[in-house]
Amino acid sequence: MLDHDVIIVGGGLAGCRAAVEIARTDPNLKVAVVAKTHPIRSHSVAAQGGMAASLKNVDSEDDWKAHAFDTVKGSDYLADQDAVEILAKEAPDVVIDLEHMGVLFSRLPDGRIAQRAFGGHSHNRTCYAADKTGHAILHELVNNLRRYGVHIYDEWYVLQMILEDGQAKGVVMYRIDDGKLAVLRAKAVMFATGGYGRAYNTTSNDYASTGDGLAMSALAGIPLQDMEFVQFHPTGLYPVGVLISEAVRGEGAYLINSEGDRFMATYAPSRMELAPRDITSRAITKEIRAGRGVHPDGSAGGPFVYLDLRHMGREKIMLRVPFAWEEAHRLLGIDAVEKPMPIRPTVHYSMGGIPVNIEGKVRSGVDGFVEGLFAAGEAACVSVHGANRLGSNSLLECVVYGKLTGAAIAQYVQNRKLPQVDEQRYLTAAVKQIQSLLNQAGKLRIGQLRQSFQDCMTDHCGVFRTEETMREGLNQLEELQQQYQKIYLDDKGSCWNTEILEAIELRNLMIVGKVILTSALSRQESRGAHCREDFTERDDENFLKHTLAFYSPAGIDLQYRPVAITMFQPQERKY
Ligand SMILES: Cc1cc2nc3c(=O)[nH]c(=O)nc-3n(C[C@H](O)[C@H](O)[C@H](O)COP(=O)(O)OP(=O)(O)OC[C@H]3O[C@@H](n4cnc5c(N)ncnc54)[C@H](O)[C@@H]3O)c2cc1C
Repeated sequence: MLDHDVIIVGGGLAGCRAAVEIARTDPNLKVAVVAKTHPIRSHSVAAQGGMAASLKNVDSEDDWKAHAFDTVKGSDYLADQDAVEILAKEAPDVVIDLEHMGVLFSRLPDGRIAQRAFGGHSHNRTCYAADKTGHAILHELVNNLRRYGVHIYDEWYVLQMILEDGQAKGVVMYRIDDGKLAVLRAKAVMFATGGYGRAYNTTSNDYASTGDGLAMSALAGIPLQDMEFVQFHPTGLYPVGVLISEAVRGEGAYLINSEGDRFMATYAPSRMELAPRDITSRAITKEIRAGRGVHPDGSAGGPFVYLDLRHMGREKIMLRVPFAWEEAHRLLGIDAVEKPMPIRPTVHYSMGGIPVNIEGKVRSGVDGFVEGLFAAGEAACVSVHGANRLGSNSLLECVVYGKLTGAAIAQYVQNRKLPQVDEQRYLTAAVKQIQSLLNQAGKLRIGQLRQSFQDCMTDHCGVFRTEETMREGLNQLEELQQQYQKIYLDDKGSCWNTEILEAIELRNLMIVGKVILTSALSRQESRGAHCREDFTERDDENFLKHTLAFYSPAGIDLQYRPVAITMFQPQERKY
């Protein structure tokens, strides 16, 4: 058995920031990061536009309270305001700390960190490294892991969380290189496994965003919070779904329909293209539905609208958003200096996740916590984003709550002993799980079933939802889950057998999908990213509360938790 004081599953921004904090707080602790990718290939590396913090370098009127208010309003008042207050107050310090670690932020002419506009933020407060911010931050954090002697198990896939008698004791993992299984035991376990964008057929997320941590938690009896809130980013490049960062609109790009109109004037006249993502995604979808979308041949009535950068000019485009230009050029052959980009909403972010308090301790239910278990980042729900996340608040959440969770873990493990774990029992069960997958005699390809599942989620739980479509989706999904027994693996070997991983990831995605649909069906109101055509209004009287979904193969039990309202009373949300 492998032993560490702390195991962190996930080598993205949240996991790495927590590891650095633990090592800084107590250099004697044995800390390990486990990741199915190499940490610098974690999804965080793809983050583009930036990280919000009221540094006031560009806008002297800004302060943490304005940032907190924008975040709470953006969340459609579902965010826990105690958590938002910490997020906004800590933001300037964590940015400076990253700078001291070596992160190369873009600069103003006088040398201070540059800041740009972002959707839903009332001030120019997003710090950035061109449009490659995640890359700049993650590389420095990973360098720091090495500096602090954190052990990295890269390309190990975690199969199961070991949770006994209400206490997390470790994980069971599988080495992708050669199929070796191992039990890793620790005094504290942290999940920072990222999101689940691959549950949908069009997403900005990478192939590893398969909701593993959420599914493992659900299977261990831990509730998932607010899973009905799935963020659609307005500007996914058509038809691939790859993200064109909000930074592009922050730098001045327009959204244009087939008639050449800047249609956001109808939907958010005061913020235009910089309205929050839920509002902008709905506006684009409405334009397309109304026949004002564009076809690839330029005619009206098609499946996308345009993101137009032409008026920005080559110099600004290449200086401020070079990656967005590259993406359109590489994937579609479009030179954005000369031509507008075709875009439509793409699944982007998970507002819901493993419920945690402000120290990252995982909740076991409406009251109470799981002993020894922590979570942060996109996999967790603390909840600073409520029903809709503002752009550039996720990297911030990963860093602020990664740091706070790391500090809490370093305290938690002091004077604790390693737990007892029956290693053989877990290894035997894992061998059985893998063997039964390899021995399945069905005829269904994994890719076929995954496509059907992703289409089911996209068609039945998208930007707009109704009871009828979601019920139909849930029925379809239950049938697809039955078909999982019929999938067939070609590769029976143990060397880089990615089919085994794809099969397990698909099981995990389906669990997550079922929780999303069930939670969404029960929320009979429209709030943030959850927009119901049969319940069009926000209903604070009945639904100003967090959903907790307890998964079991037999069904999902829903309970609710109150929202922390400490600073701002809910108001109508207008932009
Ligand atoms: C294209 C794009 C651009 C974005 N731009 C911005 C931006 O500009 N600003 C902003 O605030 N937000 C942005 N976001 C959102 C932000 O990047 C993510 O929310 C954030 O990086 C998530 O970080 P994380 O540490 O929680 O998870 P991730 O970075 O997703 O890391 C998850 C880790 O968990 C590991 N893992 C998962 N499952 C397992 C398993 N079973 N076993 C072992 N390891 C596992 C993975 O290997 C990985 O190391 C963007 C998102 C996208 C898609």
